[in-house]
Amino acid sequence: MQKESNKGSNLALIATMGALHEGHVSLIKRGQKECSQVIVSIYVNPTQFENSNDLINYPKSIDDDIDILNSLNIDFLFIPNKELMYPNGLVSKVFDLNGIDEKLEGAMRPGHFQGVATVVDRLFELTQPDKAYFGLKDFQQVQIIKKLSLIKGGTPEIIACKIIREDSGLAMSSRNSRLNVKELKAAASIFKALKFAEKEVKVFPTPPAALIREMKSIINSTGHIKVEEITFAFSDNLDVINDPDFPLDHYNKKVHCFISAYAGDVRLIDNHFIC
Ligand code: AMP
Repeated sequence: MQKESNKGSNLALIATMGALHEGHVSLIKRGQKECSQVIVSIYVNPTQFENSNDLINYPKSIDDDIDILNSLNIDFLFIPNKELMYPNGLVSKVFDLNGIDEKLEGAMRPGHFQGVATVVDRLFELTQPDKAYFGLKDFQQVQIIKKLSLIKGGTPEIIACKIIREDSGLAMSSRNSRLNVKELKAAASIFKALKFAEKEVKVFPTPPAALIREMKSIINSTGHIKVEEITFAFSDNLDVINDPDFPLDHYNKKVHCFISAYAGDVRLIDNHFIC
């Protein structure tokens, strides 16, 4: 296919674990807008799963994925195997990620971000993209990959893309396909709680403890979703805000809220800018 010349000759990578949805599609479309060629990778990376059941149960829909990618007219689909990705065995490398990998999600999922950095580093090595597109659904992951790219000399450029949500507000995720109808409906409460926090902080000088109490109640009262953790942290360095009583809007820094919750054994995450 003839490509528009004003995009120059550059390659966009969209790294995925498959079971594609509109969130992935938005990354691909942005890559297509900004680059002359797009490569999509599908690889479910074992080293980023600290829970073996989560890895075993991770949704797979390769035929549907290929249909979606065909309809988008991407340039390359890359489906590497374990031997290509991990020629020296299935272990993570160790990157100096400035400790970002040990905060928030990293504290709950030890080793997760070193696994992510390892697989993304290998994908960069194998595909040599100019730009790589990642979703802010995985807010901390974007910071990890930006740090990885810096370690590697600044290439590829990392492009952070906005979260795509269902009409209900639920952040799209491959794992959503494992939810039953009741869980799917109840899972909308996660974003409802995040929006609640954003609104409260706009109206009152609200401290985290009070917000977290209310947010937990919004989610847990559905009966189908159980909060694992709700954390407020500074958007730039992801330092957790530990003072339960100091109003969030009194910090002279941007604040994000991070939620992890379970629907049965399916772990869901979301995040939102608060103030
Ligand atoms: P995954 O296949 O879950 O590893 O995701 C592949 C890429 O798609 C990652 O950069 C994710 O952050 C991104 N992504 C997943 N869900 C969404 C979403 N709902 N909105 C935007 N990006 C997303």
